[in-house]
Amino acid sequence: MKKEVDKVLDSIIHPETGLSLRASGIVESVAMSDERIAVTLLFKRRRDPFAKSIARQLTEALTAEFPQMGEKIHIEIKEGEPQTAGEPDKADGMARVGKIIAIASGKGGVGKSTVASNLAVSLAATGYRVGLLDADIYGPSQPKMFGVEDFVPAAEMSGNHEMIVPAHVYGVELMSVGFFISTDDALLWRGPMATGALRQLIHQTRWGELDYLLIDMPPGTGDVHLTILSELKIDGAVIVSTPQQVALADVRRGIAMFRSDKVNVPVLGIIENMAWFTPAELPDNRYYIFGRGGARELAIAEGIDLIGEIPIIQSVMDGADTGKPGALPGNRAEIYYRETAQIIVDKLGRNC
Ligand code: ADP
Repeated sequence: MKKEVDKVLDSIIHPETGLSLRASGIVESVAMSDERIAVTLLFKRRRDPFAKSIARQLTEALTAEFPQMGEKIHIEIKEGEPQTAGEPDKADGMARVGKIIAIASGKGGVGKSTVASNLAVSLAATGYRVGLLDADIYGPSQPKMFGVEDFVPAAEMSGNHEMIVPAHVYGVELMSVGFFISTDDALLWRGPMATGALRQLIHQTRWGELDYLLIDMPPGTGDVHLTILSELKIDGAVIVSTPQQVALADVRRGIAMFRSDKVNVPVLGIIENMAWFTPAELPDNRYYIFGRGGARELAIAEGIDLIGEIPIIQSVMDGADTGKPGALPGNRAEIYYRETAQIIVDKLGRNC
C-alpha cells in the first residue's frame, strides 16, 4: 500500500517548485491502516495559494487509487518549512527564488551596478536571503564591486543536471558572466552568444532558497533585456538615473519597456543617484551639482514613485573599486540604501 501511496505523491506536481509533492519536501507524514489514509502536507503559510488545490488533487488521486477507502482519506495542511533533501532534481536553480527585481537604467555610467550591489548588501544585512545576477553582459562589474574577480564557480551535480555554484559574499549569492570571461571579451559578444550564456546562468545557477533575486540589467533596452524578461517572471523594476540623465528619452524608453503590454512588469520606482554632494567639512550643505528636482518631475510625469535619492559619496566610489560596497553596515552610505531597500520590500509585499 505504501508503494501505491508514494506513487500518487510522486504523480502530483507542485506548481511552484515544478517538482512532485515528495521531491518538494511538503509531505510531512503518511499514516496508513485499513481504517484510514492520513497525509500531512507542510506549507510555509497555512493560507498558501496552492495548499487547497494540492490537497484536493491528492484526495482525488488517492480516492482513485484506493476506491474502497472513500471517506477514510484525510489530508491535513500544516504550517511548516518544507523539508527538501538537497537541491531539486530539476535543471532550474530558480525553483526556490522568491521575488525578482530588475535594476535598470537608460544609459550606462549612472551607477546602476553600484545601486544593485548596495541594495543587495542592504537586504542581506537586514536578514533576507538575497541573490544578485549580474546580467550586464557587455560590462559585468559585480565581481569587482564584491571583490571576487578571481572567483571560479564550481559545478555541482544535482540529480542529472549540472548546476553552477554562485559566490557567497557579504551575505549575497552572486553570479556574473564576468566569472567566465574577461571584461574585454564581453564587449565582443554577439547577441545569440550573450543571450545563450545568460539563459544558462539564469537557470543553471544553484540559487538555493532566496527571498529576493536582484538582476543588474544591461543599460538601455535591447535583446538581452527581452531574453531576461521572457525567461523570468520579474516582480518589479527599479530605474536608476543621475540628475543630468533623467530628462533623456532613454529613461522613458526603459520605463515604457517594462510597462508595455507584452512585458507588463510593474515599475517600483526611480532612484536618483548622485543627487547631491556634501563636502565632509560642511556636513549640512548639499550641492546639487548635476541639477535638482528632475527625478521628482519625471516620477510625477510617469506616475511612478521616487524611491531613493543617493548623494555622491566618496566611500561609495572607493567601495565599488575595492570590493567593499558602501552600504555595508557602519558606513555613511548605509542609511540611503537601507531606506530604499525597505521601500522596495514594502512595495513588493503589497504587490506594488
Ligand atoms: P552603471 O552600472 O550605470 O554603468 P556604475 O555602477 O558602474 O554605473 O557606476 C559608475 C561609476 O560611478 C563608478 O565608478 C561608481 O563607483 C560611481 N558611483 C556610482 N554611484 C555613486 C555615488 N552615489 N557616489 C559616488 N560614486 C558613485
